[in-house]
Amino acid sequence: MPPSKVKKAKNPSDKKAGVEPLPKEKIMSNQGNEYDYTPFKNHKHGKPGENPIKSEPNSSMDIYDKNGNHVQRRWYDKNGDVYRDLDLTNHGNSKKHPEYPHEHLWKDGVRGK
Ligand SMILES: [Zn+2]
Repeated sequence: MPPSKVKKAKNPSDKKAGVEPLPKEKIMSNQGNEYDYTPFKNHKHGKPGENPIKSEPNSSMDIYDKNGNHVQRRWYDKNGDVYRDLDLTNHGNSKKHPEYPHEHLWKDGVRGK
């Protein structure tokens, strides 16, 4: 194996046009896996019971169930289409979803397992 190349950490003052770096947020699941939980700078709070698959481009949203419990964080791409969910619960079904939080990736408007 070749020696791994270590990328130099970017200087936080080197901002790319229009994109402000945000500190990475990670969340650890009950099975010890770490997931990226970093919101976009354009981060919204959804209305209880709503989880739109379209939103503003390059944005993220916290999704709440009808009772106002925070159940998911959702990310939207440059076209405003959802591409990733991080579910914070096991959907009340620990057999089917033993891990939480867990992620679902979207492709062409279809949510993956
Ligand atoms: Zn799920």
